[in-house]
Amino acid sequence: MPSVTCLDLEGVLTPEVWISVAEKTGIEKLRLTTRDISDYDELMRMRLGLLDQNGLKLADIQAVIRTLEPLEGAKEFLDRLRSLCQVIILSDTYYEFAGPLMEMLGRPVLFCNSLVIDAAGRVADYRLRQKDGKRMAVKALHSLKFKVVAAGDSYNDTAMLGEADAGILFQPPDKVISQFPQFPVTRTYVELLSEIEKNLD
Ligand SMILES: [Mg+2]
Repeated sequence: MPSVTCLDLEGVLTPEVWISVAEKTGIEKLRLTTRDISDYDELMRMRLGLLDQNGLKLADIQAVIRTLEPLEGAKEFLDRLRSLCQVIILSDTYYEFAGPLMEMLGRPVLFCNSLVIDAAGRVADYRLRQKDGKRMAVKALHSLKFKVVAAGDSYNDTAMLGEADAGILFQPPDKVISQFPQFPVTRTYVELLSEIEKNLD
């Protein structure tokens, strides 16, 4: 069976976008993640409200994102992996945010979500393409008769890792390791590549 590797984006190939935006804009509350506010809609409403309160439009956020770079060694890792199998990036981010970083990574396939931008360039809303999108993508690939290896760093990846034929954690927080002991833990791209290779047909 041909294999596809599904990779999370933030924390695996790139820094966390909202945390980077918080650092660069000084808006501390933008640091909060689903670990702090478990209801994703509530979290996104808060983020969009903070952007408005601070007069930040899509272009301002994109300017911040353009100053970010993929994690060290990420591009080389991804190039090597793409020489071994098909790779799809499954992310909870938004196409409007991911562009510059994807360009630096050589434009791999990305399945993520979209923002609603109004005529003034303000981020008015967000649209999840589908609920539980990462896991649903793995299910869809199975229906297309691909073997799926998946790797991610955090809670929002565990459903995807569980659905895949092989799920691998990359530089996860300790809490995730103890809650999901079934997934092997990798700390470097060399380790991650070797763990993925083991599971390719
Ligand atoms: Mg992540």
